[in-house]
Amino acid sequence: MAVPKKKTSKSRRDMRRAHHALTAIHSGECPNCGVRKLPHHLCGACGYYKGRQVVSKVEVQTDQKDA
Ligand SMILES: [Zn+2]
Repeated sequence: MAVPKKKTSKSRRDMRRAHHALTAIHSGECPNCGVRKLPHHLCGACGYYKGRQVVSKVEVQTDQKDA
């Protein structure tokens, strides 16, 4: 197994981690119901996209098939 020859300094380590910051997800408001949703995505609350109904009923998914 390849082993590093030198210990990574705090400076090197922190310089590497300078790019690790998370950014807030972009979100917009659904024009139909006002719930926050991802842009260019179907609204999960009302099923509308681009001002028209795409999905008639959006149900909460439950993973209980074996019940
Ligand atoms: Zn909506």
